[in-house]
Parts: sequence; C-alpha cells; structure tokens
Amino acid sequence: MDLYEYQGKQLFRRFGIGVSDGRLATSPEEARAAAVDLGAQVVVKAQVLTGGRGKAGGVKLADSPADAEQRAREILGLDIRGHVVRKLWIEQASDIAKEYYLSITFDRGAKKPLFMFTTQGGVEIEEVAAESPEALVRLHVDPLEGFRPWVARRLVYGGGVEDPFEQKQIAEIIGQLYRAFVEFDAMLCEINPLIVTPAGEVKALDSKFTVDDSALPRHPDISEWRDTSAAHPIESFAREKGVTYVKLDGEVGILGNGAGLSMSTVDVVAHVGGRPANFCDLGGGGSAEGVVDALEVITRDPQVRSIFFNIFGGITRCDEVARGILEALDRLDMSRYPIVVRLDGTNAEEGRRLLTEAGKPNIDPEATMLDGARRAVELAKEAA
Ligand code: GDP
Ligand code: MN
Repeated sequence: MDLYEYQGKQLFRRFGIGVSDGRLATSPEEARAAAVDLGAQVVVKAQVLTGGRGKAGGVKLADSPADAEQRAREILGLDIRGHVVRKLWIEQASDIAKEYYLSITFDRGAKKPLFMFTTQGGVEIEEVAAESPEALVRLHVDPLEGFRPWVARRLVYGGGVEDPFEQKQIAEIIGQLYRAFVEFDAMLCEINPLIVTPAGEVKALDSKFTVDDSALPRHPDISEWRDTSAAHPIESFAREKGVTYVKLDGEVGILGNGAGLSMSTVDVVAHVGGRPANFCDLGGGGSAEGVVDALEVITRDPQVRSIFFNIFGGITRCDEVARGILEALDRLDMSRYPIVVRLDGTNAEEGRRLLTEAGKPNIDPEATMLDGARRAVELAKEAA
C-alpha cells in the first residue's frame, strides 16, 4: 500500500524526522484558509500516488493566501499520469540550500534492507544511478544484526557530506528512517529531496512510503488510510468480496482456479486472438459462494462480452464449481453472457453432467483449455 506524501510525513514526524508544518485541503477555499493558518509563504502540493509531481505542475509555491487559493485552483483536477488530484497538502515553504536523497528499500535479491544515499538529490534517482553511479552510496543492513550507528556514518561519509552539523543530523535521520521502515513493515521509505536549509537544518521535503500489504493486519491505523477512491471501483468491490481480481482491458471475462491456471488462461485467450477482460482467481476452494461472488465482480465490468471458466479440479471439485455457476445463474441475471466452461480433474464428469442437465442455453461446455478459449473469444466477438 502506497501512502500519500502527507501520510508518510506524519509517520516521519512520529519517528522524529523533521518535516514542515502543513494542512490538508480539498478545495481552493480550504487552501486559502490553510495558508492563512500557516502564515508566511506556502507550497501547494498535489497528493497523488505517483512521483514527479513537480515536473507535472503539481507542486507550486504561493506567496499569499490569495495566491495559494489560485494555485490550488490550478492543481485540483489536474491529471498526473492518470491520477486526478483531489487532495492538496499545503505546507510552510522551506528555503533550500542543498537537495540530498535518502531511501531504504527491501532488496529481495540480497534478502536485506538496502540504504541508498546521495548528495545529488532532487532529481530522479535513476538518473543519478545511470550518470554518476559513484555518487550513490548503497549499503545493506543485516536484519539479524539490526541497525548500527556505523551504517549511518558510512552512508554520510561515503556520500561526501562534510559539514559536521549536517553529518550529525543526517546520521540521526538514517536511524529514524530505519526504525520507521521496520516498525511499519515498509517496502520503501524514500526522502527526495532531503534538504539542507540555509540555516543548516536538515529535513524531509517529500515522502514516499510503501507498506507491505501482507502486514496491513498488524497496522490497523494504516489500513484505515486505504483510499478506496484511488483504486479502481471494481477492484475495490472485489476486495470487499474477498475475490482476487485484476481488471484488464479486453472483452473475455476469465475465471480460473489458482493463480497459475488463471494466468495461463489469460495467455491462451490472448494467444487465440482475444482480449482478456480481467484476471480472476477462484482460489483453491472454488465453493458455490465464491463463484457467485466472482461473477458478481466480473459482470460489473461493462466491457465483458463472454465469460470463460477454466477449472482444473484438485482440491477444488468440479461439481462444486458447476453448482456455483448454476446458483449464480439463479441469483444474478446472467442471460446476456455466453459462458464457456472447461472442467477437468476431480469430479469433472459429475460437474459436466450437472451443467448439461440444467439445460441453460447460454452455457457452453468445452473439453480443453484451447477449445474453451477459442469458443469464448468467438462468442465475445459475436456479442460485440
Ligand atoms: P515530486 O516532484 O513528486 O517528487 O515532489 P517534491 O515534493 O519532491 O517536490 C518537487 C520539487 O519542488 C522539489 O524537488 C523542490 O525543488 C520543490 N519544492 C517542494 N517544496 C518546496 C519548498 O518548500 N520550497 C522550495 N523552494 N521548493 C520546494
Ligand atoms: Mn520528490
């Protein structure tokens, strides 16, 4: 789960990392009030879950409350790479003498957290890595040993920070960021830029904070921040229903059991010239209730023209899935969808018999995955 800048900064503050005082605003009027409240010059910042907001016109300085209101008017509604700005963070503007970069991520290859630090901050870190790799200090932390002060010293000295007051502050921030990273089960904590003010004070001007989804149950306060409006509406509905679902852009709705089979089904549909409308995994159980839920999710997508069930029975019993399909047909109006069903494995014959006996005109059993995919694609084209 990606946190908004203002949420990440809230966590930074809890760990003692310096951030500017700010307010959230959702309208130009609120932005003006926030600027009045904060006094002095402010910066109006789009709150969207993507980087490079500055370049896209989503970060602007304002000299007065009226100016803040005007800037807010310009930024609200702006589309930044598909993310429409609905929220603004208004914060006290900082004077910048230097822009550094500091991050900690989880390096899966090394199975260790990885710190990166450079005094060439403010720009895209990929640029620094490509053009002056020697300026980027990388250092792993052994998770069993935990954080040690020498880690911070090596990053700071390695990065070439010379001012002792700066060295001390940055070393402290490195320790605080490590604690934030571990305590919040983060995958990424990034500060770009980490600035030094003309007075020599070091603080976080930006925040990127990603919490491991699997750890969210341990952080109810963070889960509450989950912004369902930012996610795709069908995907959030799927999450509510407990259905594993990813929206794609085609016409053939796909249901498989198990992630591997579902992904293969997506590939096979594409291979025979169709376009998958989604990826949906019924999971290992494949109970009737699960099938009804999944169909409810898939049929919310207006692009869906046909539906392809690809079930390989193992723990999942094909007769159970067949019952689920029939039950769904009783409960939901599925008459406009041709449904292709391929059942194989445990109780497949029983499943096929149930479907045939039900005599539903829109159910089309097929023997193999390839035939099923071809038929589903054909039916989607007919229905278009
Ligand atoms: P990003 O573009 O999404 O990474 O957004 P940032 O929060 O990093 O802001 C982009 C840039 O705006 C920064 O690199 C700064 O140069 C500038 N900026 C942001 N806040 C301030 C501020 O308080 N004062 C000044 N002078 N510049 C700022
Ligand atoms: Mn930034």
